[in-house]
Amino acid sequence: MRRFSAILIALTMTLSCATRDPGDPLRPGYNTFSKEQDIEIGKEYSAEVKKQADIVDNPRLQAFVKQIGMHLAQQPQADDYPYEFTLINQPSINAFALPGGPIFIHSGLIDAADNEAQLAGVLSHEIAHVALRHGTSQASKSQMIQLPAVLAGAVLGNGGALAQIGQVGVGLGLQALITKYSRSAEKQADALGAQIMSQAGYDPLQMARFFEKLAAEGGSRPPVFLSTHPDPARRTELVQAEMATLPARQYGYETGDFNRSKTLVAQLPPPKVTEQQQEVAAAAANPVAPQAPSAAAFVRMNGGTFSFERPQGWEAFGGRDSLTIAPRQGLVQSRSGGVVIGYGAVISRYEPRYRQDLLNASWELVQQLQESNPNLKLTQSPQQRQIGGSPGLIVGLTGASPYGGAERNILLTVQRPDGLFYMVFVGPERGFAQLQPSFERMAQSIQFR
Ligand SMILES: [Zn+2]
Repeated sequence: MRRFSAILIALTMTLSCATRDPGDPLRPGYNTFSKEQDIEIGKEYSAEVKKQADIVDNPRLQAFVKQIGMHLAQQPQADDYPYEFTLINQPSINAFALPGGPIFIHSGLIDAADNEAQLAGVLSHEIAHVALRHGTSQASKSQMIQLPAVLAGAVLGNGGALAQIGQVGVGLGLQALITKYSRSAEKQADALGAQIMSQAGYDPLQMARFFEKLAAEGGSRPPVFLSTHPDPARRTELVQAEMATLPARQYGYETGDFNRSKTLVAQLPPPKVTEQQQEVAAAAANPVAPQAPSAAAFVRMNGGTFSFERPQGWEAFGGRDSLTIAPRQGLVQSRSGGVVIGYGAVISRYEPRYRQDLLNASWELVQQLQESNPNLKLTQSPQQRQIGGSPGLIVGLTGASPYGGAERNILLTVQRPDGLFYMVFVGPERGFAQLQPSFERMAQSIQFR
Protein backbone atom coordinates (compact mmCIF):
# COMPACT_ATOMS: atom_id res chain seq x y z
CA MET A 1 0.00 0.00 0.00
CA ARG A 2 2.75 2.35 0.94
CA ARG A 3 4.64 1.45 -2.13
CA PHE A 4 1.55 1.98 -4.22
CA SER A 5 0.97 5.45 -2.85
CA ALA A 6 4.60 6.35 -3.49
CA ILE A 7 4.18 5.31 -7.09
CA LEU A 8 1.00 7.34 -7.28
CA ILE A 9 2.73 10.39 -5.94
CA ALA A 10 5.53 9.97 -8.44
CA LEU A 11 3.01 9.60 -11.22
CA THR A 12 1.05 12.63 -10.15
CA MET A 13 4.25 14.63 -10.02
CA THR A 14 5.21 13.55 -13.49
CA LEU A 15 1.84 14.47 -14.85
CA SER A 16 1.71 17.82 -13.14
CA CYS A 17 5.21 18.63 -14.40
CA ALA A 18 4.30 17.72 -17.90
CA THR A 19 1.36 20.07 -17.91
CA ARG A 20 2.92 22.98 -16.08
CA ASP A 21 2.11 26.37 -17.61
CA PRO A 22 4.62 29.23 -17.53
CA GLY A 23 4.27 31.11 -14.27
CA ASP A 24 2.80 28.15 -12.38
CA PRO A 25 4.49 27.56 -9.03
CA LEU A 26 7.48 25.21 -8.96
CA ARG A 27 7.97 22.91 -6.00
CA PRO A 28 10.30 20.02 -5.23
CA GLY A 29 8.97 16.66 -6.43
CA TYR A 30 8.79 13.22 -4.88
CA ASN A 31 11.66 12.75 -2.46
CA THR A 32 12.46 10.16 0.20
CA PHE A 33 15.28 12.27 1.64
CA SER A 34 14.82 15.13 4.10
CA LYS A 35 16.14 18.63 3.41
CA GLU A 36 18.64 18.03 6.20
CA GLN A 37 19.87 14.94 4.40
CA ASP A 38 20.29 16.94 1.21
CA ILE A 39 22.53 19.31 3.13
CA GLU A 40 24.49 16.48 4.78
CA ILE A 41 25.07 14.68 1.49
CA GLY A 42 26.07 17.90 -0.25
CA LYS A 43 28.60 18.73 2.47
CA GLU A 44 30.19 15.33 2.35
CA TYR A 45 30.60 15.29 -1.40
CA SER A 46 31.60 18.91 -1.61
CA ALA A 47 34.57 18.08 0.66
CA GLU A 48 35.43 15.25 -1.73
CA VAL A 49 35.22 17.51 -4.80
CA LYS A 50 37.46 20.06 -3.11
CA LYS A 51 40.06 17.36 -2.45
CA GLN A 52 40.00 16.18 -6.04
CA ALA A 53 39.54 19.34 -8.05
CA ASP A 54 41.99 22.18 -8.71
CA ILE A 55 40.27 24.96 -6.77
CA VAL A 56 41.13 28.41 -8.15
CA ASP A 57 43.71 29.96 -5.87
CA ASN A 58 42.66 33.56 -6.34
CA PRO A 59 40.57 35.25 -3.62
CA ARG A 60 39.27 37.97 -5.96
CA LEU A 61 37.91 35.42 -8.41
CA GLN A 62 36.38 33.30 -5.66
CA ALA A 63 34.82 36.46 -4.17
CA PHE A 64 33.42 37.38 -7.58
CA VAL A 65 31.49 34.11 -8.11
CA LYS A 66 30.45 34.13 -4.47
CA GLN A 67 29.08 37.65 -4.74
CA ILE A 68 26.94 36.84 -7.76
CA GLY A 69 25.92 33.47 -6.35
CA MET A 70 24.90 34.81 -2.96
CA HIS A 71 22.96 37.65 -4.54
CA LEU A 72 20.96 35.06 -6.50
CA ALA A 73 20.69 32.68 -3.54
CA GLN A 74 19.09 35.40 -1.44
CA GLN A 75 16.05 35.43 -3.69
CA PRO A 76 13.08 33.67 -2.10
CA GLN A 77 12.85 31.04 -4.86
CA ALA A 78 16.26 29.71 -3.87
CA ASP A 79 14.88 28.58 -0.50
CA ASP A 80 17.12 28.64 2.57
CA TYR A 81 19.90 26.17 1.74
CA PRO A 82 23.47 26.91 2.83
CA TYR A 83 24.63 27.85 -0.66
CA GLU A 84 28.31 27.90 -1.42
CA PHE A 85 29.99 28.83 -4.71
CA THR A 86 33.42 27.55 -5.64
CA LEU A 87 35.40 28.22 -8.77
CA ILE A 88 37.37 25.29 -10.17
CA ASN A 89 40.37 25.84 -12.44
CA GLN A 90 39.15 23.91 -15.46
CA PRO A 91 38.84 25.33 -18.96
CA SER A 92 35.80 23.26 -19.91
CA ILE A 93 32.44 24.99 -19.92
CA ASN A 94 30.58 23.44 -17.04
CA ALA A 95 28.97 23.96 -13.66
CA PHE A 96 27.26 21.56 -11.30
CA ALA A 97 25.31 21.60 -8.08
CA LEU A 98 25.33 19.07 -5.24
CA PRO A 99 22.22 18.55 -3.10
CA GLY A 100 21.75 21.07 -0.32
CA GLY A 101 23.72 23.98 -1.71
CA PRO A 102 27.32 23.46 -2.89
CA ILE A 103 27.73 24.75 -6.45
CA PHE A 104 30.92 24.41 -8.48
CA ILE A 105 31.77 26.52 -11.50
CA HIS A 106 34.49 25.74 -14.03
CA SER A 107 36.66 28.74 -14.92
CA GLY A 108 35.91 28.04 -18.60
CA LEU A 109 32.38 29.21 -17.98
CA ILE A 110 33.53 32.74 -17.13
CA ASP A 111 35.79 32.69 -20.14
CA ALA A 112 32.89 31.74 -22.41
CA ALA A 113 30.32 34.20 -21.03
CA ASP A 114 29.84 37.57 -22.76
CA ASN A 115 28.54 39.31 -19.69
CA GLU A 116 27.79 38.82 -16.04
CA ALA A 117 24.11 38.04 -16.63
CA GLN A 118 25.08 34.98 -18.68
CA LEU A 119 27.20 33.64 -15.86
CA ALA A 120 24.38 34.48 -13.43
CA GLY A 121 22.06 32.50 -15.71
CA VAL A 122 24.03 29.30 -15.28
CA LEU A 123 24.30 29.88 -11.52
CA SER A 124 20.54 30.49 -11.28
CA HIS A 125 19.87 27.28 -13.17
CA GLU A 126 22.09 25.33 -10.76
CA ILE A 127 20.51 27.04 -7.72
CA ALA A 128 17.13 25.95 -9.09
CA HIS A 129 18.33 22.30 -9.20
CA VAL A 130 19.23 22.63 -5.50
CA ALA A 131 15.99 24.35 -4.49
CA LEU A 132 13.90 21.83 -6.43
CA ARG A 133 15.99 19.02 -4.92
CA HIS A 134 16.49 17.32 -8.27
CA GLY A 135 19.52 15.28 -7.17
CA THR A 136 17.88 13.46 -4.29
CA SER A 137 14.52 13.39 -6.03
CA GLN A 138 16.13 11.43 -8.83
CA ALA A 139 17.87 9.15 -6.35
CA SER A 140 14.55 8.62 -4.53
CA LYS A 141 12.88 7.47 -7.68
CA SER A 142 15.64 5.16 -8.70
CA GLN A 143 16.32 3.20 -5.47
CA MET A 144 18.67 1.27 -7.62
CA ILE A 145 21.82 3.07 -6.93
CA GLN A 146 23.42 3.98 -3.75
CA LEU A 147 23.58 7.70 -3.54
CA PRO A 148 27.35 7.69 -3.11
CA ALA A 149 27.62 6.10 -6.51
CA VAL A 150 25.30 8.67 -7.99
CA LEU A 151 27.50 11.39 -6.68
CA ALA A 152 30.82 9.72 -7.34
CA GLY A 153 30.78 11.36 -10.73
CA ALA A 154 31.41 14.70 -9.17
CA VAL A 155 34.74 13.55 -7.83
CA LEU A 156 35.96 11.54 -10.75
CA GLY A 157 38.11 14.27 -12.11
CA ASN A 158 36.56 17.23 -13.75
CA GLY A 159 33.29 17.90 -12.14
CA GLY A 160 30.75 16.66 -14.56
CA ALA A 161 33.34 14.30 -15.88
CA LEU A 162 31.05 11.35 -15.64
CA ALA A 163 28.84 13.16 -18.03
CA GLN A 164 31.47 12.39 -20.61
CA ILE A 165 31.71 8.72 -19.93
CA GLY A 166 29.09 7.90 -22.44
CA GLN A 167 30.60 10.11 -25.07
CA VAL A 168 33.49 7.89 -25.70
CA GLY A 169 33.66 4.30 -26.32
CA VAL A 170 30.10 4.06 -27.22
CA GLY A 171 29.74 7.64 -28.15
CA LEU A 172 26.24 8.91 -27.69
CA GLY A 173 25.48 11.48 -25.60
CA LEU A 174 24.91 8.24 -23.80
CA GLN A 175 25.21 10.78 -21.08
CA ALA A 176 25.30 8.23 -18.42
CA LEU A 177 25.27 10.71 -15.81
CA ILE A 178 24.95 12.30 -12.67
CA THR A 179 24.46 15.67 -14.18
CA LYS A 180 21.81 14.23 -16.40
CA TYR A 181 18.44 15.07 -14.94
CA SER A 182 15.18 14.34 -16.67
CA ARG A 183 14.01 16.75 -19.33
CA SER A 184 11.22 18.01 -17.11
CA ALA A 185 13.71 18.67 -14.29
CA GLU A 186 15.84 20.72 -16.70
CA LYS A 187 12.83 22.72 -17.84
CA GLN A 188 11.92 23.38 -14.24
CA ALA A 189 15.46 24.55 -13.50
CA ASP A 190 15.33 26.92 -16.50
CA ALA A 191 11.95 28.29 -15.41
CA LEU A 192 12.87 28.75 -11.76
CA GLY A 193 16.32 30.02 -12.80
CA ALA A 194 14.63 32.68 -14.96
CA GLN A 195 12.51 33.74 -11.98
CA ILE A 196 15.56 33.95 -9.73
CA MET A 197 17.49 35.99 -12.30
CA SER A 198 14.63 38.39 -12.85
CA GLN A 199 14.10 38.90 -9.15
CA ALA A 200 17.82 39.56 -8.74
CA GLY A 201 17.84 42.15 -11.52
CA TYR A 202 19.49 40.10 -14.27
CA ASP A 203 17.84 39.75 -17.67
CA PRO A 204 16.74 36.08 -17.88
CA LEU A 205 17.03 36.20 -21.67
CA GLN A 206 20.81 36.27 -21.22
CA MET A 207 20.63 32.73 -19.86
CA ALA A 208 18.91 31.55 -23.03
CA ARG A 209 21.28 33.55 -25.25
CA PHE A 210 24.25 31.95 -23.57
CA PHE A 211 22.90 28.45 -24.23
CA GLU A 212 22.28 29.39 -27.87
CA LYS A 213 25.78 30.79 -28.22
CA LEU A 214 27.39 27.68 -26.74
CA ALA A 215 25.35 25.45 -29.00
CA ALA A 216 26.32 27.48 -32.07
CA GLU A 217 30.01 27.39 -31.19
CA GLY A 218 29.99 23.80 -30.08
CA GLY A 219 28.75 22.47 -33.41
CA SER A 220 28.52 18.74 -33.30
CA ARG A 221 30.58 18.58 -30.11
CA PRO A 222 28.65 20.72 -27.64
CA PRO A 223 30.26 21.57 -24.31
CA VAL A 224 29.49 19.22 -21.45
CA PHE A 225 26.98 21.56 -19.93
CA LEU A 226 24.88 21.53 -23.07
CA SER A 227 25.25 17.85 -23.80
CA THR A 228 23.54 17.17 -20.49
CA HIS A 229 20.91 19.83 -21.05
CA PRO A 230 18.01 20.34 -23.43
CA ASP A 231 17.82 21.85 -26.88
CA PRO A 232 18.72 25.60 -26.69
CA ALA A 233 16.04 26.79 -29.13
CA ARG A 234 13.28 25.36 -26.98
CA ARG A 235 14.90 26.78 -23.88
CA THR A 236 14.72 30.31 -25.27
CA GLU A 237 11.01 29.88 -25.89
CA LEU A 238 10.51 28.54 -22.42
CA VAL A 239 12.44 31.38 -20.78
CA GLN A 240 10.47 33.93 -22.80
CA ALA A 241 7.18 32.34 -21.81
CA GLU A 242 8.23 32.37 -18.17
CA MET A 243 9.31 36.02 -18.40
CA ALA A 244 5.94 37.00 -19.79
CA THR A 245 4.38 35.92 -16.49
CA LEU A 246 6.80 37.94 -14.34
CA PRO A 247 6.34 41.56 -13.30
CA ALA A 248 8.07 44.02 -15.64
CA ARG A 249 11.47 44.99 -14.30
CA GLN A 250 14.51 47.01 -15.14
CA TYR A 251 17.36 44.62 -15.68
CA GLY A 252 20.93 45.68 -15.45
CA TYR A 253 22.23 44.55 -12.09
CA GLU A 254 25.99 44.09 -12.19
CA THR A 255 28.78 43.69 -9.68
CA GLY A 256 31.06 45.64 -12.00
CA ASP A 257 33.73 42.96 -11.67
CA PHE A 258 32.99 40.89 -14.74
CA ASN A 259 35.64 42.21 -17.11
CA ARG A 260 38.37 42.18 -14.52
CA SER A 261 37.43 38.62 -13.56
CA LYS A 262 37.54 37.53 -17.16
CA THR A 263 41.07 38.89 -17.43
CA LEU A 264 42.06 37.08 -14.23
CA VAL A 265 40.63 33.81 -15.57
CA ALA A 266 42.68 34.19 -18.73
CA GLN A 267 45.79 34.41 -16.53
CA LEU A 268 45.10 31.23 -14.55
CA PRO A 269 47.79 28.55 -14.73
CA PRO A 270 46.94 25.26 -16.46
CA PRO A 271 44.83 23.05 -14.18
CA LYS A 272 46.76 20.91 -11.74
CA VAL A 273 46.47 17.24 -12.38
CA THR A 274 45.33 15.36 -9.29
CA GLU A 275 46.91 12.14 -8.11
CA GLN A 276 43.85 10.22 -9.11
CA GLN A 277 43.86 11.75 -12.57
CA GLN A 278 47.56 10.94 -12.89
CA GLU A 279 46.86 7.34 -12.01
CA VAL A 280 44.10 7.11 -14.55
CA ALA A 281 46.25 8.81 -17.17
CA ALA A 282 49.12 6.44 -16.42
CA ALA A 283 46.80 3.49 -16.70
CA ALA A 284 45.53 4.82 -20.00
CA ALA A 285 49.07 5.32 -21.26
CA ASN A 286 50.06 1.80 -20.24
CA PRO A 287 46.87 -0.05 -20.75
CA VAL A 288 46.56 -3.45 -19.21
CA ALA A 289 44.16 -6.02 -20.47
CA PRO A 290 40.82 -5.75 -18.74
CA GLN A 291 40.41 -8.05 -15.81
CA ALA A 292 37.52 -10.40 -16.07
CA PRO A 293 35.46 -10.25 -12.89
CA SER A 294 35.16 -13.44 -10.89
CA ALA A 295 32.31 -15.50 -12.26
CA ALA A 296 30.89 -16.28 -8.85
CA ALA A 297 30.61 -12.79 -7.49
CA PHE A 298 27.59 -11.19 -9.05
CA VAL A 299 25.00 -9.06 -7.29
CA ARG A 300 21.53 -8.16 -8.46
CA MET A 301 20.66 -4.48 -8.84
CA ASN A 302 17.03 -3.54 -8.63
CA GLY A 303 15.75 -0.69 -10.73
CA GLY A 304 12.39 0.94 -11.11
CA THR A 305 11.43 -1.05 -14.18
CA PHE A 306 14.21 -3.60 -14.51
CA SER A 307 16.86 -5.48 -12.61
CA PHE A 308 20.03 -7.28 -13.59
CA GLU A 309 23.17 -8.81 -12.14
CA ARG A 310 26.48 -7.00 -12.16
CA PRO A 311 29.96 -8.16 -11.16
CA GLN A 312 30.48 -7.38 -7.51
CA GLY A 313 33.59 -5.26 -7.91
CA TRP A 314 31.99 -3.09 -10.55
CA GLU A 315 30.42 0.16 -9.45
CA ALA A 316 27.27 1.82 -10.68
CA PHE A 317 27.48 5.43 -11.74
CA GLY A 318 24.61 7.43 -13.04
CA GLY A 319 21.01 8.26 -12.51
CA ARG A 320 17.56 7.02 -13.12
CA ASP A 321 17.64 6.84 -16.87
CA SER A 322 21.25 6.10 -17.52
CA LEU A 323 23.69 3.93 -15.66
CA THR A 324 27.31 3.08 -16.21
CA ILE A 325 28.46 -0.19 -14.66
CA ALA A 326 32.23 -0.45 -14.58
CA PRO A 327 35.16 -1.18 -12.30
CA ARG A 328 37.25 1.84 -11.37
CA GLN A 329 40.10 0.57 -13.52
CA GLY A 330 37.67 0.42 -16.43
CA LEU A 331 37.37 4.21 -16.37
CA VAL A 332 39.98 5.99 -18.42
CA GLN A 333 41.09 9.59 -18.74
CA SER A 334 40.49 10.76 -22.28
CA ARG A 335 42.73 13.13 -24.22
CA SER A 336 40.19 15.91 -23.75
CA GLY A 337 40.48 15.48 -19.98
CA GLY A 338 37.18 13.74 -19.42
CA VAL A 339 36.63 10.32 -17.98
CA VAL A 340 35.56 7.70 -20.47
CA ILE A 341 34.60 4.10 -20.19
CA GLY A 342 37.35 1.70 -21.19
CA TYR A 343 35.37 -1.39 -20.37
CA GLY A 344 32.05 -1.98 -18.70
CA ALA A 345 28.43 -1.52 -19.59
CA VAL A 346 26.02 1.34 -20.09
CA ILE A 347 22.30 0.96 -19.54
CA SER A 348 19.87 3.57 -20.67
CA ARG A 349 16.58 4.34 -22.33
CA TYR A 350 16.04 5.96 -25.69
CA GLU A 351 12.90 7.70 -26.86
CA PRO A 352 12.59 7.12 -30.59
CA ARG A 353 11.70 10.23 -32.55
CA TYR A 354 10.18 8.69 -35.64
CA ARG A 355 9.40 5.00 -35.60
CA GLN A 356 8.40 2.99 -32.59
CA ASP A 357 8.96 -0.57 -33.79
CA LEU A 358 11.98 -2.38 -32.40
CA LEU A 359 14.08 -2.55 -35.55
CA ASN A 360 13.55 1.06 -36.64
CA ALA A 361 13.87 2.46 -33.14
CA SER A 362 17.13 0.51 -32.70
CA TRP A 363 18.38 1.77 -36.03
CA GLU A 364 17.61 5.33 -34.98
CA LEU A 365 19.54 4.80 -31.76
CA VAL A 366 22.56 3.48 -33.67
CA GLN A 367 22.48 6.58 -35.87
CA GLN A 368 22.35 8.76 -32.78
CA LEU A 369 25.38 6.96 -31.42
CA GLN A 370 27.22 7.41 -34.68
CA GLU A 371 26.39 11.09 -34.83
CA SER A 372 28.25 11.75 -31.62
CA ASN A 373 30.94 9.20 -32.37
CA PRO A 374 31.74 8.97 -36.08
CA ASN A 375 34.27 6.19 -35.41
CA LEU A 376 31.46 3.85 -34.56
CA LYS A 377 30.79 1.29 -37.29
CA LEU A 378 28.31 -1.48 -37.61
CA THR A 379 30.03 -4.87 -37.68
CA GLN A 380 27.09 -7.14 -37.43
CA SER A 381 23.55 -6.62 -38.60
CA PRO A 382 20.84 -6.84 -35.95
CA GLN A 383 20.00 -10.29 -34.65
CA GLN A 384 16.89 -11.20 -32.75
CA ARG A 385 17.17 -12.42 -29.21
CA GLN A 386 14.86 -12.75 -26.20
CA ILE A 387 16.00 -10.35 -23.48
CA GLY A 388 14.28 -10.51 -20.11
CA GLY A 389 11.45 -12.42 -21.73
CA SER A 390 10.82 -9.70 -24.32
CA PRO A 391 11.81 -9.62 -27.97
CA GLY A 392 15.08 -7.81 -28.37
CA LEU A 393 17.89 -7.17 -30.82
CA ILE A 394 21.65 -7.48 -30.65
CA VAL A 395 23.82 -5.20 -32.75
CA GLY A 396 27.60 -5.38 -33.01
CA LEU A 397 29.57 -2.14 -33.33
CA THR A 398 33.23 -1.29 -33.45
CA GLY A 399 34.97 1.93 -32.45
CA ALA A 400 38.23 3.29 -31.11
CA SER A 401 39.23 2.13 -27.65
CA PRO A 402 40.66 4.66 -25.18
CA TYR A 403 43.33 1.97 -24.54
CA GLY A 404 44.36 2.32 -28.17
CA GLY A 405 43.36 -0.05 -30.93
CA ALA A 406 39.86 -1.18 -31.71
CA GLU A 407 36.95 -1.29 -29.34
CA ARG A 408 34.07 -3.71 -29.48
CA ASN A 409 30.56 -2.67 -28.51
CA ILE A 410 27.60 -4.96 -28.21
CA LEU A 411 24.28 -3.19 -28.16
CA LEU A 412 21.13 -4.86 -26.82
CA THR A 413 17.77 -3.21 -27.39
CA VAL A 414 14.35 -4.13 -26.04
CA GLN A 415 11.12 -2.36 -26.68
CA ARG A 416 9.46 -1.25 -23.45
CA PRO A 417 6.35 0.79 -22.68
CA ASP A 418 8.52 3.78 -21.73
CA GLY A 419 10.78 3.68 -24.77
CA LEU A 420 13.67 1.65 -26.01
CA PHE A 421 15.64 -0.01 -23.20
CA TYR A 422 19.22 -0.58 -24.19
CA MET A 423 22.45 -1.88 -22.80
CA VAL A 424 25.87 -1.45 -24.40
CA PHE A 425 28.79 -3.66 -23.45
CA VAL A 426 32.11 -1.98 -24.08
CA GLY A 427 35.63 -3.36 -24.13
CA PRO A 428 38.85 -3.26 -26.14
CA GLU A 429 38.92 -5.81 -28.97
CA ARG A 430 42.06 -7.25 -27.43
CA GLY A 431 40.79 -8.52 -24.11
CA PHE A 432 37.13 -8.67 -25.04
CA ALA A 433 37.06 -12.45 -24.89
CA GLN A 434 37.81 -12.35 -21.16
CA LEU A 435 34.94 -9.98 -20.52
CA GLN A 436 32.43 -11.73 -22.70
CA PRO A 437 31.24 -14.32 -20.13
CA SER A 438 30.49 -11.53 -17.65
CA PHE A 439 28.68 -9.50 -20.27
CA GLU A 440 26.72 -12.57 -21.25
CA ARG A 441 25.71 -13.16 -17.66
CA MET A 442 24.60 -9.54 -17.26
CA ALA A 443 22.52 -9.80 -20.43
CA GLN A 444 20.93 -13.06 -19.36
CA SER A 445 20.07 -11.70 -15.93
CA ILE A 446 17.98 -8.77 -17.18
CA GLN A 447 14.43 -8.86 -15.88
CA PHE A 448 11.63 -6.41 -16.52
CA ARG A 449 8.69 -5.66 -14.28
ZN1 LIG B 1 20.58 21.46 -15.38
